[in-house]
Amino acid sequence: MISRADAAALDAADPLASFRDRFVLPEGLVYLDGNSLGALPKGAAERMVEVVSREWGAGLIRSWNDAGWIDLPRRVGDKIARLVGGEPGEVVCTDSTSVNLWKVLAAALSLRPERRTVLSEEGNFPTDLYVAEGLARLLGQGHRLRLVPKGELLTSLDADVAALLLTHVDYRTGVRHDMERLTRAAHEAGAIAIWDLAHSAGAMPVDLRAAGADLAVGCGYKYLCGGPGAPAFLWVPKRLQDSFVQPLSGWLGHAEPFAFERVYRPAEGVGRFLCGTPPILSMSSLDAALDVILEADLAIVRAKSEALTSFFIEAVEQECGDAVRLVSPRVPSLRGSQVSFTHPDAYAVMRALIERSVVGDFRAPDVLRFGFAPLYVGFVDAWDAAKALADVLSSHAHERPELRRRAAVT
Ligand SMILES: *Cc1c(COP(=O)(O)O)cnc(C)c1O
Repeated sequence: MISRADAAALDAADPLASFRDRFVLPEGLVYLDGNSLGALPKGAAERMVEVVSREWGAGLIRSWNDAGWIDLPRRVGDKIARLVGGEPGEVVCTDSTSVNLWKVLAAALSLRPERRTVLSEEGNFPTDLYVAEGLARLLGQGHRLRLVPKGELLTSLDADVAALLLTHVDYRTGVRHDMERLTRAAHEAGAIAIWDLAHSAGAMPVDLRAAGADLAVGCGYKYLCGGPGAPAFLWVPKRLQDSFVQPLSGWLGHAEPFAFERVYRPAEGVGRFLCGTPPILSMSSLDAALDVILEADLAIVRAKSEALTSFFIEAVEQECGDAVRLVSPRVPSLRGSQVSFTHPDAYAVMRALIERSVVGDFRAPDVLRFGFAPLYVGFVDAWDAAKALADVLSSHAHERPELRRRAAVT
């Protein structure tokens, strides 16, 4: 049997404990949703005030030069590169994950012009699949998105696959792919390997170069804590940067935007993946958030994540019995930094939990998802969440009809 005292002892021995104070977290709230919207770093809040008042308010348009706004996508990209195994000049911060995926997928297809298939898995995040379908439709050359279950990916890599498009950690179940093995298999089949790091960047060590990956995208507002709608990123290794021109050929991806030339000339390097004017306010908050995240050793972050998620699974199973069913891998190395359980009334259960100040997510159709951002979530949080879940289930608190009415965002 484990107890709250065990959780407190683990928190007391936590080498990352001091990070919690770097974030704004409401007193008494157990926040297990940092994989949907990361918590607010105090440094990001301070930087926002400064950027708004000094750089925007006083500096006005001069700040494009004086405050270095124009280079911000590359500067922030270089910080992100350190988290995902990229080199300086291989990552830019720009646009949303969906838009970046469109750019890198178009690039991948142009590198394999004789092939027509984009291979992905049935459970991949919908936007990734919608974007692939939309691009295939637009190209009008018979491209198709082929979806198979996880277990059939390796055997589905045939000679028509141009790109293998996968999310490193499954948003619903938390299953973590073996990036190196799948990338190798894609290459053996002659395909380009594209990785979506939305649920892994900042939560664990990721080494795109060591894995041999070709292209990657990721999200700025989940584990990177950039704030709601913060821009995303994309990674293009140096070896591929000049081998294609991405089709969203906007002026800020031009070699000399302020020459205002009539003809598009792509910038050298990863800069050609930029399109329009960067959102300076939200990119600044992401920039400041990254300074906090970069102070942590990601190997220690990962060790804590595995311990936290294991502790939570044990606590839930001890306190809730078989009222919920684990759908995340039991082996820590096979999962990301989240734990998911299914329950037939999962939406109402999550609403009842939120009423008890335990915030996780519901994911259709029946998943209770709990994300563990190791920099600001502790073992007592995991314990208290498991107890609150047990309380909801045993008191049938979730059966109140109003808890079943869905809000616009779930
Ligand atoms: C969160 C998430 C996204 C988000 O895409 P946006 O374009 O930033 O809204 C994309 N892909 C995956 C796998 C995600 O988890």
